[in-house]
Formats: sequence, structure tokens, C-alpha cells
Amino acid sequence: MPQSTPPFQFSEFGQKFAGESGVLRLMQDMGEAARQPGARLLGGGNPARIPAVDALFHAQMQRILDSKDLFARLVGSYDNPSGPAFFARDLAALLRDRYGWHIGPQNILVTSGSQTGFFFLFNLLAGRTAEGGLRRILLPVTPEYIGYEESSLTGNYFVSYAPEIEYLPDHIYKYKVDFDALTVGPDIAAICVSRPTNPTGNVLTRAELSRLSDLAQAHNIPLIIDNAYGAPFPGIIYTEEAEQELPAWEEHLIYCMSLSKLGLPGVRTGMIIAAEPIIRALTAMNAIVSLAPSSFGPALVRDLLKSGEILRISQEIIRPHYAAKAQHAVAAVHAAMQDAPDGASQVAYHIHKPEGAFFLWLWFPDLPINSLALYQRLRARNVLVLPGQYFFPGLQQEWQHRHECLRISYAGPEATVAAGIQIIGQEVRRAWAEAA
Ligand code: PLP
Repeated sequence: MPQSTPPFQFSEFGQKFAGESGVLRLMQDMGEAARQPGARLLGGGNPARIPAVDALFHAQMQRILDSKDLFARLVGSYDNPSGPAFFARDLAALLRDRYGWHIGPQNILVTSGSQTGFFFLFNLLAGRTAEGGLRRILLPVTPEYIGYEESSLTGNYFVSYAPEIEYLPDHIYKYKVDFDALTVGPDIAAICVSRPTNPTGNVLTRAELSRLSDLAQAHNIPLIIDNAYGAPFPGIIYTEEAEQELPAWEEHLIYCMSLSKLGLPGVRTGMIIAAEPIIRALTAMNAIVSLAPSSFGPALVRDLLKSGEILRISQEIIRPHYAAKAQHAVAAVHAAMQDAPDGASQVAYHIHKPEGAFFLWLWFPDLPINSLALYQRLRARNVLVLPGQYFFPGLQQEWQHRHECLRISYAGPEATVAAGIQIIGQEVRRAWAEAA
């Protein structure tokens, strides 16, 4: 029998991190539902299995296994607390040569997944200060990544804003930063955005990004750009070329990258690119928490990074793969929400413009049931999605919109995604029919 209360007293840290949270409950619920036969998994953040990319990683793995020396080096020693030196050198060289970034290996740190990197970064910059104040992380636009919210060591130090909404043709809309509302007070320790954004697939424009960067610089704080899906790899951005490029390097930027969405979430490798004092601080944290990060991911992509092949697979295989999937998913939503063969009429719906990552964010204005109830009804029909309400970390104001949205992943097989979307359409109609 699982015990609901621990046998010993937990610390404040223990109570926060071992305690109940909406996200934990949801992840456990999803894990359990995913084991059901025939489950349509449109809920998680797993990348697609792309055979051509898998084959490349497989070949790299084989190369390591075929060499006693490479194998021994991979598994036989602890690395530097900042990660393997070759990886920092090669990544710095790529960013310098291709994008003109004035950085070196001293600006790069490897973490065991970028999630761990965010935990370090947020708690390095925000939280209680020695003087007793509370420093916060500003998320200029919500919906934003669910994984940030629980990462504060004490309390919840995220502050966030609702976006402006731009309506586009064909049921499409886009969130924009509401710069008029944004206030950067003295308690703000850093600004953070995911770009592309999980859960919405939004890609903040270069103009928005440079305004945020100017704001951060003016307040002498860093701008953290969570680039888990972005340039240069895995490069899952479908907007114009200029938006796909990396912004220029500046000392107040903290750039977070990951190998996960390339297809390697299991190797748990994240990278942080930042000014040297930030990297030194994070290196010390890495040493305390894990001695050294895993060197497995860096070893696996070593040759692909050095040769620039990692950019080619991102641009020629990974991005087109997801772009085609996005189009199919959008078409499936239109088909599911518009006039049905049984004569049922269209329901009110909007799709956030899919500009990157691999999620569709659906908005059902005035839906008579909230997104959690819709999630539960879908789960009962073996369709797993994520209810939207959890994706507003730090938002203080009550906003009905937050209960009217769903996130679906379109990384899985097209037929499964389409079947799941069709059932979403049926359940949304049912909710309206019951309320009529
Ligand atoms: N940032 C965003 C926006 C994500 O969607 C994810 C994972 O889904 C992460 C960070 C964490 O990625 P990882 O820890 O696998 O590098």
C-alpha cells in the first residue's frame, strides 16, 4: 500500500519537491493511461521517431561500441563538471563559424537535460536573497512551458503576463507579447521565454525578441532563451528564414539548448551558453548535484557536430518532417470541428498558428466544460492530451481563456493523431450539446 504520509519529517524543500503537484498527478495519470492498449498518445513531449535520424544515431552508437577505446572513454570516467571539453570546443566552434558568435568553450556548460539546467539557472538567479528579498523570473508571455513552474526551491517566484491575441484567417490566431502591460520591477532577476514555445508552437518574432533583449539589458538582467526546439538544431521552426536564424550573441543572453528534440530525450543532455561567470556558477552547481553531467549525449553526437551534419539533418530531415505533420494535424482539426457528416454544425474553435515545436494548441471559446473535464472525457475514450490550464506558470490574474485550451502533440503517427483529433471534435460537440 503506498503511504500518503512519509515516515519521517520532511524539510521545507522536501515538502515542496516531494509533495503533490498538479503536474505530477497529470504525468502519473498519463503514464498509467499510456499503458492501456490502443491508447492514442497525443499528450507527451516525446519527439517523433524519424527512421533516417534514428539510423544516424544508431551508426554513431555502433562506432562507439566497435572501438574498445571509445567505449572505455564513454563509460569509464567522470567528465569535467562543465561537461566534456571536446563538446564545448566543437559547439563553440560551430556557433562562432556559422553564426559569428564571439564565444569559446568557457561559455558552454552541459547539464543532464535542459530541465536540470533550468532548475540550476532559475535558482541561481531568483529566490530569497541574503538581504531577505525575493527575486523573481519574468515570463513575458503565457501560455508557457509547464516544466518551469515547480522548479523554484522556495515558494513560487514566477511572474507572468497574459498575451495579446492576433486573429488570423481560417480559425488561426497568434499570441503576442503585450509590451504595454510588461513591467520589469527591481525584483525581476531574469526574463525567460521558450522559443518555439511549448505548448503553443508560437515563435516570438525577431522584433519581439530584440525588444525583450533590450529590456533585459536596460535592467541589467539576463534574457534566458529556451531553445529546446529552436535553431540551429533541432531547428523545428517553420516561419520565415530570418526567424529561423539565431539572434546575435550578447553577453546578457543565456541560451539553453537540448539534444532531446533531435530524437535523444533518453540521453538527457542539455547545453547552456552564457557569459563566463554564469557558466562558472553553474559548473559549481553541477559538481555539487551530480559531480559531472552524463557524457553519453555529447559522445553520441560528437562526429555529427564536428562535421556540421547535425545542421543538415535538422534542416533537411527533422524540420520538414514536423512541418508536414503540422499541416496534417491542422487539416484534421478543421475536418473534426467543421460540419460533421451527421449534420452536426461547426463548433467554435481556434488553432494557435503552428510556427514550431510539435504541438497544436487548440482554443474552444466559451466551452461549457473546462479543459480538465474535457481532458478526463478524452482520457476515458483513450485519447491522451494535456489540459491547457497548467501552462500559465506565474499568471496571477483569473483568465477564462486558460480553461478553454488543450495541447496536443502531433509527433506520433499521423493516423493516431487524426483519430485522436476526431474524438476531440466529438467530445467538444457533446459538451455543447449537453449545455444546449
Ligand atoms: N524546455 C522546453 C520548452 C521543453 O518543452 C522541454 C521538454 O519538453 C524542456 C525544456 C526540457 O527538455 P530536456 O530536459 O529533455 O532537455
